[in-house]
Amino acid sequence: MLKVENVTKYYGKFKAVDNLSFSVKPGEIFGLLGVNGAGKTTTFRMIMGLLEPTEGKITLNDKPIDYSVTDDIGFLTEERSLLTKLTVKEQAIFYGNLKSMKDKDILNRLDYLLDKFEIKEYKNKKIKELSKGNQQKIQFIMAILNEPKLLILDEPFSGLDPFNVELFKKEIIEMSKKGSMIIFSSHRMEHVELFCKKLAIILKGKTVLEGYLSDIKRDYRKKNIFIKGDIDIDEIKSIKGVIDVVKTAEQYEVKIESDEIVDKVFSKIKNSKNITKFVVEEASLNEIFVSKVGHAYEK
Ligand code: ATP
Repeated sequence: MLKVENVTKYYGKFKAVDNLSFSVKPGEIFGLLGVNGAGKTTTFRMIMGLLEPTEGKITLNDKPIDYSVTDDIGFLTEERSLLTKLTVKEQAIFYGNLKSMKDKDILNRLDYLLDKFEIKEYKNKKIKELSKGNQQKIQFIMAILNEPKLLILDEPFSGLDPFNVELFKKEIIEMSKKGSMIIFSSHRMEHVELFCKKLAIILKGKTVLEGYLSDIKRDYRKKNIFIKGDIDIDEIKSIKGVIDVVKTAEQYEVKIESDEIVDKVFSKIKNSKNITKFVVEEASLNEIFVSKVGHAYEK
């Protein structure tokens, strides 16, 4: 298990990470969310042992992270960190050797992953000749070449088209099923929501929300009802427990305090003839975030 316990990091007098704690078990996918400058990369660098926490401690299976365990870790950095003059194959040999892999194993794994990511034809191409998206794929392949037990992905989806986002997600889920611990950062709530069990949202280095997504959603009792058809907005708004009714191009969105209000809304509209939709949904992570910090999550 990876444990980050009460970690604080100062750059000079500036506090970039403030008393951060979370843990990730084998098989779990953990999302670290935050806007630019929130402290995500600093946290990852501390986990990788590239930066020393000012306070607190970080352990992997109860041991400090040092060179003895780096062969079991994969790291996708936010900025490109490929040797662009090398071919994909040369880069893989270089990186795999750093992770103590044998050339034969590296090449087998590389062929398997290039095939999976549908870029077999680039094996002997120089990295600088590849498109940005394909370079991103190569960087991801390098991060998982050694089948790491701990995989750290700093903004893995940035710059990817939706098809490739899906490819990456599939691979990440597969790795988690095989027992890897996976941490990734993102600005995009919707990526995290669909995909990870556990998360922390940090804002200026401080945690504003942390835990299992299912618990976070359960504890946040407000819900939304989506209704299509003609309704009397003022009548719905007058129900105690209805927070707001918003009309969008397609439908009405009724924001309610809790589950108990659903029946009251339903009984008001059930006699309307043209209702074609009545769906109750949990609040989105973005809504929960806004309610916690009082303003919208900037992308
Ligand atoms: P982004 O999404 O933009 O990558 P981030 O959440 O990864 O942001 P960090 O890169 O960890 O954020 O930066 C956190 C804060 O620490 C920022 O205010 C940044 O300016 C500051 N910072 C980062 N590195 C240093 C450094 N080496 N010296 C001083 N301040 C730094």
